[in-house]
Amino acid sequence: MNRTVNVAIDGPAGAGKSTIAKKVAKTLQYIYVDTGAMFRAMAIHLIRRGTDTSDAAAISRDAQEADITIEYRDGEQVVLLNGENVTPFLRTEEVGNMASVSSVNPDVRTKMADLQRQLAKKQNVVMDGRDIGTVILPDAQVKIYLTASVEVRGMRRYKELVEKGLDADLEKIEAEIRERDHRDMTRPIAPLKQADDAVFIDSSDMTIDEVTEAILAVCREKLEQEG
Ligand code: C5P
Repeated sequence: MNRTVNVAIDGPAGAGKSTIAKKVAKTLQYIYVDTGAMFRAMAIHLIRRGTDTSDAAAISRDAQEADITIEYRDGEQVVLLNGENVTPFLRTEEVGNMASVSSVNPDVRTKMADLQRQLAKKQNVVMDGRDIGTVILPDAQVKIYLTASVEVRGMRRYKELVEKGLDADLEKIEAEIRERDHRDMTRPIAPLKQADDAVFIDSSDMTIDEVTEAILAVCREKLEQEG
């Protein structure tokens, strides 16, 4: 049997998942799949459509019109929404918040889950998200739960914005992180939580390289056990 190798990295916003997952994927020469980007592409569709976020039926209906696909160009993940490359527009607060709100919807989740499983079946992947180890790829050979304190995550986001020359309010950022964590962790379907067999890493006092090394060490150990 030719089973692909799947590395699942879950955790809250701002824990460093995407930066670190990318590095791990590069070292292992696996494909990096950023599942948050898929939910963000769906969020862009709903924002443009003006969908009422308090109306679950409207979200379910409008989500059906969104054809989301992933491509790799020069080794980077590119997200297409109905054929348009929306990658440059994914990383705003507005889109992140809409993604968090709309990802509660079961029809949105089913659509994304099918796509994510197809990608993981086809090739070796490092996939990051919220429910990868628990729901999407329960048989992943490696599962990591990566987190950091709200204060550290808030400060990282604050610095990112300041470096880009954008306005930033630390208190507001922390409040938004708390709100997003709460929504992601308490939703009825596929909430963010650590899988029983995931390795827990708190990155609050670790550098990116230290976390990357720790995850690679887990990968080596698990993959050796698998033979
Ligand atoms: O990770 P990122 O901040 O890009 O994700 C945006 C939002 O998409 C998250 O707050 C979460 O609600 C949702 N998401 C999810 N499941 C995933 C990845 C992201 O529900 N696997």
